[in-house]
Amino acid sequence: MKLDAILDPAAVGVLARLCVGLLSVAVSMLCCPRAGAGKDPGCLSFGVIADVQYADQDALRKRHYREALAGLQDCVADLNTRDLAFTIQVGDIIDRRAESFDRVLPVYSRLAMPKYHVLGNHDFPLPRAEVLAKLGMDRPYYAFSHSGWRFIVLDAQDICLHGGWADDSDNHRRAEDMLQQLEAQGLPNAVGWNGAIGEEQKEWLAATLRDASERGERAIVFGHMPILPAACNPVNLLWNHQEILEILQSSDACVAYFCGHDHPGGYAEQSGIHHVTFQGMVEAPVQNAYAVVDLYGDIIEIRGVGAVPSRVLTISPRGDTQPSEP
Ligand SMILES: [Zn+2]
Repeated sequence: MKLDAILDPAAVGVLARLCVGLLSVAVSMLCCPRAGAGKDPGCLSFGVIADVQYADQDALRKRHYREALAGLQDCVADLNTRDLAFTIQVGDIIDRRAESFDRVLPVYSRLAMPKYHVLGNHDFPLPRAEVLAKLGMDRPYYAFSHSGWRFIVLDAQDICLHGGWADDSDNHRRAEDMLQQLEAQGLPNAVGWNGAIGEEQKEWLAATLRDASERGERAIVFGHMPILPAACNPVNLLWNHQEILEILQSSDACVAYFCGHDHPGGYAEQSGIHHVTFQGMVEAPVQNAYAVVDLYGDIIEIRGVGAVPSRVLTISPRGDTQPSEP
């Protein structure tokens, strides 16, 4: 080929388009291996991290608080090499003490993509407003949309003894009452480290799911605490998990609920909703624990790292779903 042909603007344009095309195919295969096999070209990927629970203190039982910082550093470096729309950590980014935020948040903030927080019961060494300010959160619960998906983030410390509420506040008093009632019923989750979703947030959740449904979006809900007994050790269930389960199951938009809090993790499907309890990073000092989630076609693919198992979950139509038996 003559030099002038190589430098011909038309030829350069063809070559450039070819390179861009090949690059996008390679990125799409990297992002969604199954999309590369021709199942679906559309793909949205995001990172999930659960229970970093960092603190500068010695390990206790399986919890390696200090080592979790190195785990997060490795995780952030790895996630930054991937093509992710966002990363979300599903609560308990620290174990205790406000200064733990000052060590762990600079690491989390090194993520190169948009990043989100879910509040956890260990995240309140300070009053609620100060915790929200530290985390850069405008609201304790919120939602955002991306590529036909609605991502809904709940605050499980809405009614909680460890939600940064003043002792004489309504939310704290309601938490004391609710815990007493659960104790009287002898329920396994009647323990002080759990919490509940309040009335206003429940109404907001139902309205947000309705709106997602009307717009034809699918929804994934994130919360710190599990809501399905089969997907966790029931001792760690959200206090009013049955109410939240019914709200999710009455929506044809909701296809998954992602949480942490129960460090060994778990999974179960009920009424077309996939409940994934992600393994806690604090209990994975050697192999680490986090995941990349790929959404494409009718598939939710979890590509686990370390202690998080990989799973391919199929989304089934949810129009005929019924609330579960209590
Ligand atoms: Zn927790």
